[in-house]
Amino acid sequence: MISRSIRIRGIVQGVGFRPFVYRAAMETGVTGSVANGPSGVYVQVHGEGPAIDAFIRRLDSPPPMARVDEIMIETISSPVRFPDTFTISESFDHGGRTTIPPDTAVCSQCLQEMADPNDRRYRYPFIACTDCGPRFTITTGLPYDREHTTMVDFPLCAECRIDYEDPGGRRYHAQPTACPQCGPQITGGLERLREAASELTSGRIVAIKGVGGYHLACNARDVDAVATLRRRKARGPKPFAVMARDVSIAHSIVDIDDLETSTLQSPGAPIVVGTARDEQLHRSVAPGNGSIGVMLPYAPIHHLLFEFGAPEVLVMTSGNLSDEPICIDPVEAELRLSGLADSFVHHDRRIHLPCDDSVIRFIEHVPQPIRRSRGSAPTSLPLPLPGSHCVAVGGELKATACVSDGEYAWVSQHIGDTSSLETLGVLESTITTLVDIQRITPRSIISDLHPGYLSAQWASRFARERDIDHFGVQHHHAHMASLLVEHEVDPVTPVLAIALDGTGYGLDGTIWGGEILVGGYREAVRYAHLTPILLPGGDAATKHPDRIAASYLLASDMTWEDDIPSIGSLGQNQSLLRSMLTKGTSCIPTSSAGRLFDAASSLLDVCHEVQYEGQAAIELEAIALGSEPVVLPEPAIIDAGGGWQLDSSPLIQGLIEALRAGQPIAGIAHGFHQALAAGLTRCAVLVREQTGVATAGLTGGVFANRVLTSYLQGNLVQEGFGVLTHRVVPPNDGGLALGQVAVAAGGGALRWRSG
Ligand code: ZN
Ligand code: ZN
Ligand code: FE
Repeated sequence: MISRSIRIRGIVQGVGFRPFVYRAAMETGVTGSVANGPSGVYVQVHGEGPAIDAFIRRLDSPPPMARVDEIMIETISSPVRFPDTFTISESFDHGGRTTIPPDTAVCSQCLQEMADPNDRRYRYPFIACTDCGPRFTITTGLPYDREHTTMVDFPLCAECRIDYEDPGGRRYHAQPTACPQCGPQITGGLERLREAASELTSGRIVAIKGVGGYHLACNARDVDAVATLRRRKARGPKPFAVMARDVSIAHSIVDIDDLETSTLQSPGAPIVVGTARDEQLHRSVAPGNGSIGVMLPYAPIHHLLFEFGAPEVLVMTSGNLSDEPICIDPVEAELRLSGLADSFVHHDRRIHLPCDDSVIRFIEHVPQPIRRSRGSAPTSLPLPLPGSHCVAVGGELKATACVSDGEYAWVSQHIGDTSSLETLGVLESTITTLVDIQRITPRSIISDLHPGYLSAQWASRFARERDIDHFGVQHHHAHMASLLVEHEVDPVTPVLAIALDGTGYGLDGTIWGGEILVGGYREAVRYAHLTPILLPGGDAATKHPDRIAASYLLASDMTWEDDIPSIGSLGQNQSLLRSMLTKGTSCIPTSSAGRLFDAASSLLDVCHEVQYEGQAAIELEAIALGSEPVVLPEPAIIDAGGGWQLDSSPLIQGLIEALRAGQPIAGIAHGFHQALAAGLTRCAVLVREQTGVATAGLTGGVFANRVLTSYLQGNLVQEGFGVLTHRVVPPNDGGLALGQVAVAAGGGALRWRSG
């Protein structure tokens, strides 16, 4: 008898992989166990040599939804007593490290049972099995068994108990398993769901409790209903995601290729952002945006809703007031959403942690996460350098939390804008849960350097209460480190990071956001940045691209003429603004690339005032897509002594000239992206000459921009750079917490003064 330890990496969780391994073991006569782990499926097998060989060969033909990237086999010493069975473990426990799987869309076998009138789970809205259903959102602690999930409210009936204890069955140790006799119910039963479907058809807005919280739903093709929802949510033109009844309807809404379609249908069931195809729907749900985010029904309740006749495309937006967390509890939902929804669909399966839908957008056929949440949280990544037990809270917007045992890092679901106290509460409960699940005893807590962030203040309190260290990490250094972690860059290999985003507190107290940093986890040196302009009135100016455009015009030695759209938009504010900018009163310098996009967007009369974060840049990109670029002058590169500066004056001047020459707006918008990418590339080449570092990393929220990313990536590759882009965590502030953990592990974090 010999023993082997096998680790299988790839898409192996939530795809029926463990039952597949179990069957392989039964057929080849080996014993042992199989479990999900932090980076794959872990198997221990015991048996005679030929049987183990046969077992390993069987692993080469995995179930249809799985993808095996790597099989690592190790010989291990045999146990004192060989097990006489083969077992499936729900989660892997190894030296105190256990991972809870993400929530997974209902599987095809469960859907079949749900559609079968003779099945005891016929039309049961909470059907689940070992391969599907909620996990992360219902887990309250460890060990991961039914007692430590919110399913504790529903003791298994005799029949469900038999399923649960049958290792050959599809529900062996499936914690969320239940049936109509013993499990959760919709308040008002299926009749209520039928009613909701017809309410949606007649234009009402319905709040529907799902897997990670409530959605606000309405008929996406009903222009009035969508406008009403927009008004009630005080959302301005911010895009809504939609849920399409099936994949063919999804294809009629957005242009997506095979890869994007398979992501849409994957067990994680994210929102996939694709180029809009349906013009009328597009104008209503995502005005000014070239794309629509679409998802497929993922909870059984969604499938039933469509079966009962709900409109084939629904707006499905997070059930919250702007900036607040998504509602998860019926009482709280009735209270907070009563002004938004006409009616409610509640159920009694408790949600322990809120979890918004994940969002993915493909750039050059590579999936880029915009929001990593339901279906992928918690995300576990190995740290490429050893650290210690710690917790990180991210920045302010799009926050996630991250906990680490020094060897692995676990990134939480999307938490949101932690400038609201409600969201800060979710940050706290998320950290409490993750620390418990991953058995972390934090020795330090890490936040952004921005002293005004509530999350940084919360971290400081956390540190005082526990008498542990509180560290701060510079915003763009954290962005950079998050990219290095996901590419498993080792701690001695430097990378040239191009960090472009909206707002990040700089080491000099100004606002950074257009930086070229060279270094690694421990240290990053600022070799180049955009020439700072003045932000009139500080952060408040980010709501007014016309004011930023005016500042850029001054910085570019251009006079404020009324034929320039931004100046026309300023109207009576002109003289006050001029005196602020010339005297520098209440102005903060910024090198933010986000602000440069705001300026261009306003100068081209695309957007003068933003109603949601990133609007001006998103609308500029949407206009640029699909147009012929007008060639504009590149930004100038200035040797500023302490580093290079990318001065956008020539670009701004050229843009105004093109505008005055009557060139098409779309083409100028396109040319702006192209010229900026060219300037950044030249700057990167200069920094490479200085440092010898030829691996470039693209990070920061601006890299959600497909046009800029494509140009810059293409240029850099042409110049001989290796290019790293985000595939695991988002380039935006959703990745900060992971980066903060890595910088702290590298010893590059700054100790906060206590008090
Ligand atoms: Zn299932
Ligand atoms: Zn039951
Ligand atoms: Fe950022």
